[in-house]
Amino acid sequence: MYLKFWGTRGSIASPGPDTVKYGGNTSCIEVVSNAGRRVVIDAGTGIRALGDELVRSGRPVHLTLLITHAHWDHVLGMAFFKPVYMSTSVIDIDGCPKAFWGLANIFDDRKGNGFFPVAFDELQANIRHLEKLPQGKLVLQDLTIEGIETNHPQGGMGFKITENDRCVVFLTDNELTPEASLGKQPEDFAYFAQGCDLLIHDAQYLPEEIENHRGWGHSTFADAVELALLAKVSRLILYHHDPARTDREIKEIETRARKLVKASRGALEVSAAREGQVVLL
Ligand SMILES: [Zn+2]
Ligand SMILES: [Zn+2]
Repeated sequence: MYLKFWGTRGSIASPGPDTVKYGGNTSCIEVVSNAGRRVVIDAGTGIRALGDELVRSGRPVHLTLLITHAHWDHVLGMAFFKPVYMSTSVIDIDGCPKAFWGLANIFDDRKGNGFFPVAFDELQANIRHLEKLPQGKLVLQDLTIEGIETNHPQGGMGFKITENDRCVVFLTDNELTPEASLGKQPEDFAYFAQGCDLLIHDAQYLPEEIENHRGWGHSTFADAVELALLAKVSRLILYHHDPARTDREIKEIETRARKLVKASRGALEVSAAREGQVVLL
């Protein structure tokens, strides 16, 4: 399985000299199976550059787009994803129950409203709404995808993608504190991620910041490390960086997270997601 981070940032895109290393684009990850089946998680601003690369390849685009939830940092790139304007493209959409609604609502509603001048039904791609994950598993030949509801205001969904004996779990916009309003406990997420090769998890806040952001639906890097250790995963990548966080500060988060792993005598590889980073599983 091949993974590439096209967007790592949460809340809003944050380009500039302080975000060059870890990236300024919002949530988007590409996953390609060994057989070449492509899954894209989230359509944040990072999806624009992915679309450009897919178009440059000259091959028709056929992919499954999983949307965690309809907050703008996860859907805003859809209007600038070139394959949606090509009649040769087939895009299957699944994810949280509001995923399709969220994507469609960026576009013009034919009454002059929306955030973009083109109407969703004018897009030339064949865009299909699967709606499998809210009910159960989504099986794409060699890939099996499962969903879990996240602790996030207005709801959200995390994903587990399995190919043979390899497995990646993606949980962003997820609050891991036991007080989290929607009631899922860290143990529930640990069960979902148990033994996976890679966990990608929200780490927007520092432990010293979280008290002022309880109920916002995000976690600290320390929460994410604790979950990864509980779930006995091999590797953790911290994701959904706060838009105000500089490269230097994210590097510091990596250092602190590694110290936590060392203190717990765990065998966990931990790093912060970098835009453009490729992971092979
Ligand atoms: Zn977000
Ligand atoms: Zn959100």
